[in-house]
Amino acid sequence: MKLKDIIKLGEKYCYCPSCGNDKIGNDEGKLIVEEHTYYRECSCGFNILIDDRKDEI
Ligand SMILES: [Zn+2]
Repeated sequence: MKLKDIIKLGEKYCYCPSCGNDKIGNDEGKLIVEEHTYYRECSCGFNILIDDRKDEI
């Protein structure tokens, strides 16, 4: 994933859209960026997976 897209998604999902939590790690939440995907998960149950090959960023 391109850096500009990671930054864009970071602005959108840094704070959980559902509960506002910005914590990652220690069972609080996850942020996994791979070659084509961006995955954000929160302890409240929110999660989203964006694939830059098929999703609009
Ligand atoms: Zn949350």
